[in-house]
Amino acid sequence: MSDAAKLPLMLTELRMPTIGRLWQSIGATSDKEGWGAARFLAALCEHEIAERSQRRISRHLAASGLQPGKTLETFDFAAVPSVRKAHIQALATGATWIEAGSNILIFGPSGTGKTHCASAIGAGLIDNGYRVMFTRTTDLVQKLQAARRDLMLPATLAKLDKFDCLILDDLGYVRKDQAETSVLFELIAERYERKSMMITCNQPFSEWDKVFPDPAVTVAAIDRLVHHSNIIEINTDSYRRRVAAENAAARKSKPDQPATTKPRTKASA
Ligand code: ADP
Ligand code: MG
Repeated sequence: MSDAAKLPLMLTELRMPTIGRLWQSIGATSDKEGWGAARFLAALCEHEIAERSQRRISRHLAASGLQPGKTLETFDFAAVPSVRKAHIQALATGATWIEAGSNILIFGPSGTGKTHCASAIGAGLIDNGYRVMFTRTTDLVQKLQAARRDLMLPATLAKLDKFDCLILDDLGYVRKDQAETSVLFELIAERYERKSMMITCNQPFSEWDKVFPDPAVTVAAIDRLVHHSNIIEINTDSYRRRVAAENAAARKSKPDQPATTKPRTKASA
């Protein structure tokens, strides 16, 4: 068997599909340009590494639970003056805060873009090679409670360590009930100063006694979350309501136009 015939088999065995696909065309360039062996091999390896990293990012994004399309590119910063684009872009790189196990807390009334903002930062983190899990807080709390019933809580919390950042959406929707909030507190305490969390919440800290029934636990949870954290406050009108009002106004002025629930783009805003 010739070397050329053996190569696809060997590259499959070595799990190098990109080199398998590209070696002939890159080889032709190499022959034409008179590259040495080192340059040829380096070019192949670079492609394999780049595609492998891209595949890993796609896998992590698919497994993250993040909703597609809620990214920095689709977030209209002009609509939220209290949120600085450069700040969010910096957070989305993960630089320093993820390694330090710090948190991001996003507050604001319903419909103001908390979930979108958290998701956009999460997607940026994945692009930068971090692992992220997005979940509604109530869903995760249910899972943790089930784990506790099965005496599996420590193991389940340990499994969550593979995520550099857990996004807990709508912390304020957790029922004010001892069992629910105690697993939530255990999660917060377990990750404290080790692994990051990003939390969205409708209520400011002053109303967290509505989330945690025990005042001592409320103070302890806030303390741990805030100790190393970036706090983002969104204090605009509901984006949903604003888009609906703008659409209604547009329909009034152009009665033939069909209704749309799509937010207007920056260009049209
Ligand atoms: P919240 O989590 O605060 O209730 P969401 O993030 O779910 O709000 O936002 C409601 C809807 O409005 C979503 O479809 C979201 O994508 C959109 N939205 C909110 N704020 C913005 C924004 N600044 N730019 C683009 N879309 C936004
Ligand atoms: Mg939300």
